[in-house]
Amino acid sequence: MSVSRETEKPVIGVRRLKEPMPQPITTRLFTVANQKGGVGKTTSAVNIAAALAMGGLKVLVIDLDPQGNACTALGVDREGEGMYEVFVDERPLSSIIQKVAGFPHLECAPANQELAGAEISMVNMVARESILKLALNDLLKERELSGDRLDYIIIDCPPSLGLLTVNALTAAEEVLVPIQCEYYSLEGISLLVSTLSKIQRALNPKVHISTILLTMFDSRTRLANDVANDVRAHFPRELIDIPIPRAVRISEAPSFRQTVMTYDASSPGAVAYMQVAREIALRGTSVTPSVESGAITA
Ligand code: ADP
Ligand code: MG
Repeated sequence: MSVSRETEKPVIGVRRLKEPMPQPITTRLFTVANQKGGVGKTTSAVNIAAALAMGGLKVLVIDLDPQGNACTALGVDREGEGMYEVFVDERPLSSIIQKVAGFPHLECAPANQELAGAEISMVNMVARESILKLALNDLLKERELSGDRLDYIIIDCPPSLGLLTVNALTAAEEVLVPIQCEYYSLEGISLLVSTLSKIQRALNPKVHISTILLTMFDSRTRLANDVANDVRAHFPRELIDIPIPRAVRISEAPSFRQTVMTYDASSPGAVAYMQVAREIALRGTSVTPSVESGAITA
């Protein structure tokens, strides 16, 4: 598949796909998590979000990493109020969400600089693990009432299993784990899995790893293929078997405050993320029992 072949005329600066992606029956909430840094969490969060938005879906990215790399890639301002105020001052999400320029249906809740101090400020708060969940419940209700339902919420996590990530795992039903195909990749996952099972028991029984993605994949190396085979064997249902290639355009895009989906939509990295987003959207039509029973068709 090639993005350039599948696209039509630009819509407010962004190409919208000829064939829209299927809408989920209810808002799907994804946390992109892996406590290892540099594995492609932010890159996957912003590019999948952009691709889903190009597929005609309404998408919100929540940047939970105080480094704010998702904001940078989406060209979103992090100077004003942001997720810090949501966590510490009970500010509603609707008051800090910004529209992403050039996309009709893409929004971002920014990680402002202050977010770096949020975990410390939250230490003595009551129900501190559920702050994001409550804020999201309010947002979802508001949007439902105004007839502006979100299709996807994608939360980009920092590279740790601290309170911000715990909030994300408490709020979301689905976890997307990017795996870089290198030594010890799967060892890292086992720590995430054990944290997840604690959260399932104590805070959020529904949360589960629904999606695994191979990132920065170099098919020429034996190691990458060995790791991919291991992941296939351990997570046959969760793996989206469309590896994201290691690609220069993907790493260049953020320095232009863009996703690769707008920076170079026909490059191999953008094409792969587009295919992955479509696969996620298609799988989403069978994640809930009501959908499995045939309530919606792709
Ligand atoms: P994380 O959020 O897990 O820390 P990032 O998404 O920020 O990881 O990726 C780490 C670095 O690798 C960034 O500089 C990013 O631009 C680069 N990168 C991510 N995916 C790719 C890829 N498929 N090809 C080339 N570079 C990539
Ligand atoms: Mg990141």
